[in-house]
Amino acid sequence: MNHWPEEFLHRSKLLFKDEYSSFLDSLSTPAPVSVRLNPFKRNIGFVETQVIPWSKNGRYLPERPSFTLDPLFHAGTYYVQEASSQFLEQLFLLALKDNPEPIVLDLCAAPGGKSTHLLSLLNGEGCLVSNEVISSRNKILQQNIAKWGCTNSFVTQNDPADFKRLPGVFDIIVVDAPCSGEGLFRRDPEAADEWSEKAVEHCSTRQNQILESIHESLKPGGYLIYSTCTFEKAENGDQIERMISEFGYEICNSVPAENGIVQTEYGYHFYPHKVIGEGLFISMIRKPIDHDKRFRMRHEDPQNYGKDFRMSFSSYFRIDANLSAFVKDDHVYAIPTEHYSLFALLFKNLFVRQAGIFTGTQKDKNFIPSTELALSLSASDQFPSANVDLPTALTYLRGESISLANAPQGWTIIQYENQNLGWVKVLDRRVNNYYPKEWKVMKR
Ligand code: SAM
Repeated sequence: MNHWPEEFLHRSKLLFKDEYSSFLDSLSTPAPVSVRLNPFKRNIGFVETQVIPWSKNGRYLPERPSFTLDPLFHAGTYYVQEASSQFLEQLFLLALKDNPEPIVLDLCAAPGGKSTHLLSLLNGEGCLVSNEVISSRNKILQQNIAKWGCTNSFVTQNDPADFKRLPGVFDIIVVDAPCSGEGLFRRDPEAADEWSEKAVEHCSTRQNQILESIHESLKPGGYLIYSTCTFEKAENGDQIERMISEFGYEICNSVPAENGIVQTEYGYHFYPHKVIGEGLFISMIRKPIDHDKRFRMRHEDPQNYGKDFRMSFSSYFRIDANLSAFVKDDHVYAIPTEHYSLFALLFKNLFVRQAGIFTGTQKDKNFIPSTELALSLSASDQFPSANVDLPTALTYLRGESISLANAPQGWTIIQYENQNLGWVKVLDRRVNNYYPKEWKVMKR
C-alpha cells in the first residue's frame, strides 16, 4: 500500500466526492500498458492486440514485455506510450482540417511521445519543430525522433521565451507542460514524494510563463493544444481560462467525450478510475484571427555544394526524397527542400540540434554514415544489408562485436526482421560496430 501525501488525498476527496474511493482503488491497481505503432514501418508484433479507442495506431498490451530487449523497439516500429496521452490525435486531426500542411511546434517535447505521434499524424506533410530545453532530455528526444524515421522534423533546444523571436510562425503549438504529475503517481509512486502544495503553485506559475512566452509565435487563427498529467485546476482549467480572458482565445473542444473521458468547460479530463489510462488533462484553443499580422517566411535557397558531393549525397537517399544538404563542421544533414527556408529561420534564431536527417560525418574523403540515416524512411534501399537473428541483433545493439558470414566488405546495414537498426563496417578480418555509444542497450 502506498502512502500518498495527506494534502493530495484531501484535495482528491474534494475533487472526486463520492467517486473518491474508486479513485483511491485505481491508484493501487497496476497501470495499463500501451504502445503506439509506427504507421510508416512494418509492424509484426502487437497487431492483434486491443485498439485504444481514441488512437488509430494505439494498442493496449495484456502485459509488459521487455521493450529494451526487443530490437524492433530500437528500430522505431513502435513507441511505448501511455494511452490517455494519445487522445492528442483527436484534437490534432481537428486542427489539421483547417490546414493539412501546418508548421507545428511541440514545445516541451522530450522524450518524444507526442512528437512521434504528431509526425505520424502529419503523414509527411507540413513540418514539426520539437523543442526540449533540458540537454540530457533533448538527446533522448533526438534519438526517438530519429527512430521514427521522418524527414519533416527539426529538434531545437531553447527556453520557451526564445520563441518570442519567431512571431506568428507556427500554425499549431502543442504545450505538454511540466506539471505536478499527480496523474502518474501509480506508475511512478516516487513522483508523489516530490509533490507538495508549493510544487503545484510553482508549476502553475511556470505554466503561466510558458503559455505567455509562446503566445506571440502562434499564428493568428492558429491552434494551441495544452496538456498536463495532473488533476489540479490551477494547472489545467485556470490556464485555459486565462488564455481566453487575457488573449481572446476560443475553446475548440468539439470532439465528443466517450469511453469514460470527462469533458468540462475548459477541457478533457482522464481519471484513472474511469478510463483505461493514466491521469491527463488536454484542451485545444484557438488564437483570435488578426489579418494585419500575417507572417511571411523569407525565402532562402539551399547551399550549393560541388558536383561530387551532390552525387554521393543523393545516393544515400531514395530517388523520390526531395532533400537538400546542409553541412556544419563535418556533419552532413538532409533537409526537405520545401522546408529549407524554415530551417534557415530556425537556425538564425534558435539552437537547432537536429535538422531533417543527420546523414553522417564527412572526414576528408571518408564518409561515415549515421545511425539516423539507417533508420530514416528516406534512406536508399540500395545499401548492402544483413538480416540477423535475435541474439546477434541484441549483441549489435549492445555495441559488441558480431560476426557476419559472407558479408561483402564495406558499410553494411544490420537489420532485424528486415527493419534497419544501424551500421557496421565489414573489414578483412573483423566487423566494426558503429552503433552509437549513447544509444547502447545495457540490459542483459
Ligand atoms: N511531451 C513529452 C512526451 O510526450 O514525451 C513529455 C513532456 S514532459 C510532460 C514536460 C517536459 O517539459 C519535460 O521534458 C521537461 O524537461 C520540460 N520542461 C521542464 N521545464 C521546462 C520549462 N521551464 N519550459 C519548457 N519545458 C520545460
